[in-house]
Amino acid sequence: MPTNSTTETVRKRGRQSHAGPPAGHRSEPGRDCPLCPRLAAFRHANQAREPGWFNAPVPCFGDRNGRVLIVGLAPGLQGANRTGRPFTGDYAGDLLYATLLELGFARGTYDRRPDDGLKLVGCRIGNAVRCVPPQNKPLPVEINTCRTFLKAAIGEMPRLRAVVMLGRVAHDSTLKALGVRAAEAPFGHGAEFQADRIRLFDSYHCSRYNTNTGVLTPAMFKAVFARVREHLDG
Ligand code: SF4
Repeated sequence: MPTNSTTETVRKRGRQSHAGPPAGHRSEPGRDCPLCPRLAAFRHANQAREPGWFNAPVPCFGDRNGRVLIVGLAPGLQGANRTGRPFTGDYAGDLLYATLLELGFARGTYDRRPDDGLKLVGCRIGNAVRCVPPQNKPLPVEINTCRTFLKAAIGEMPRLRAVVMLGRVAHDSTLKALGVRAAEAPFGHGAEFQADRIRLFDSYHCSRYNTNTGVLTPAMFKAVFARVREHLDG
């Protein structure tokens, strides 16, 4: 375990649970999801400017029967928003998929294209916010609104045992989706929390900014996924 990690068993808030949203709620929004007007307007502008891009809420990628869910922030403009697959097409994906391949959570070759044939192994990737936000910064109300889809994604994974939360937005939204009290699970790279059957793993986001500034090194990132592997194998 990393030396700066903590492992806490956290309690749930009130009557909330990680069972997912009310029956009938879908885990994938429609391509024209109107629930966040600012993001819908940005999507329409991008559709007009770049008609060959995906330009829609980016669906989760991977296996619903997997034991691991990786939660990112939101699609990058020229990454997932362009290609339609989480973390595909920009730097964040280079580090994430290289790490997943190295730790056995993916197989094949990552080539920055959704048709590169890469397969996830026992894991799934999604974002806290499904639509690309301007300047990569979703508003709190947008994070709250899109949480219905995060909750649904979690709720439809019956074998889920680990959630990796990439950055503070993913951390905060996942905690709320699971009904975990924020005060009992403070964000920190390498921190771990147990919420009923699910272990939560914190990591700094694998953005180019974080790696260029030295906030996150590939070794630090790999250590988080090595812990996930240890947990699953334990
Ligand atoms: S961010 Fe989520 S809730 Fe908001 S418009 Fe996109 S898909 Fe809908």
